[in-house]
Amino acid sequence: MGDAVERTDEEWRGLLAPERYEVLRRAATERPFSGEYVDCHDDGTYRCAACGTALFSSGSKFDSGSGWPSFTEPAVADAVELREDRSHHMVRVEVLCRACGSHLGHVFDDGPGDDAKRYCINSLALGFEGAAGTPPEA
Ligand code: FE
Repeated sequence: MGDAVERTDEEWRGLLAPERYEVLRRAATERPFSGEYVDCHDDGTYRCAACGTALFSSGSKFDSGSGWPSFTEPAVADAVELREDRSHHMVRVEVLCRACGSHLGHVFDDGPGDDAKRYCINSLALGFEGAAGTPPEA
C-alpha cells in the first residue's frame, strides 16, 4: 500500500461495477440512505473500493442523519486528498483517495468532533473489512 495506483479510464471501467465506476471515477453521488454502510456500526476498516487503501475507521464513524456514511477524520491523514469542488453551483471540498485519485465524497465543517469535520462518503466508494479480518455476515 502507498504506491500511486494509475489506471486508464478504460481499465477502471472494466474493473469496477457500473454504479461504483460512476461514483469513484465520475464523481457521482449515490442517493441518500441507499448505501450499504449508512447504518453499519460494526468495528473495522473502510477501504477504497477502487484500490483497497485503508481510508476510514469505524471508530470515527458517526450517525449524521445525512444518509451517507459519515466520519470525523480519515484513518490516516494523508490517505485522502482534498480539492475544491465548484460543481453544481456550490463550493465544496471534494475528498479523493490519494493513492488512486478516485472520488469518495465531500468534507464539511459541521461535524461533531473537535475540528468539526464531517467526511460525507459514498458507500459505493468503500469496502468494509470487519475487525476480525473476515467479512461481516450478510
Ligand atoms: Fe483508492
